[in-house]
Amino acid sequence: MVGRIVDLTHVIEPTAADAERKFVVNIHDALQEVPGTARPEGEWYVMSDVELMDHVGTHIEAPLHCLRDGMDLSQIPLEKLIGEAVILDLRDAYSDSGVTLIQVKKAVDAAGGLKRNDIVFCMMGETDYFSTEGIRWLVDSGIKLMGVDSAGVEIPHSVSHANENHLALFRAEIPLIERLANLDKLSKPRVQVYALPIPVEGLDAFPLRVIAIE
Ligand SMILES: [Zn+2]
Repeated sequence: MVGRIVDLTHVIEPTAADAERKFVVNIHDALQEVPGTARPEGEWYVMSDVELMDHVGTHIEAPLHCLRDGMDLSQIPLEKLIGEAVILDLRDAYSDSGVTLIQVKKAVDAAGGLKRNDIVFCMMGETDYFSTEGIRWLVDSGIKLMGVDSAGVEIPHSVSHANENHLALFRAEIPLIERLANLDKLSKPRVQVYALPIPVEGLDAFPLRVIAIE
């Protein structure tokens, strides 16, 4: 029996032809119709070339995103991508230095606690990134996959370009999902999740379908 399915994925729309180079999604015909081919009304035969910045929409980042010798998409074990997710509500967690350790712990308590090998998905608010202590504590708690509904987790305007929060996750082989959708549609703080990227060798990130089953 399948329970209630909640899609945690944003729809990706092709960008306009003149879109900024970053975050582009272009779809072109890959096939040319053989001249003289006649098809019944309403039929065609298409295949497409797709040009895609690999961090568009709801996407997963493998450790390779920040670590030269890190796992690529094809190397993420399926065990990390399927399992129980704890939903942390951090929408009211305001802090200039990123969501704090105390705010993370409070949200974990409100969600009924955290177990080793949990997936953690976070509903972010105005403060849409983490303090490194907050991320480190989640890593040290033994989570296997992290996701946020914001565009990222990194401390903005970090002059060092250190990617500290990404690295805290990736050094522990924890992939990161960004731009999750519909976390507020879940009715329970603990749900079964499937987050399955296409296994592309040598790639750091890619859009994926993420679903929760209640
Ligand atoms: Zn990204």
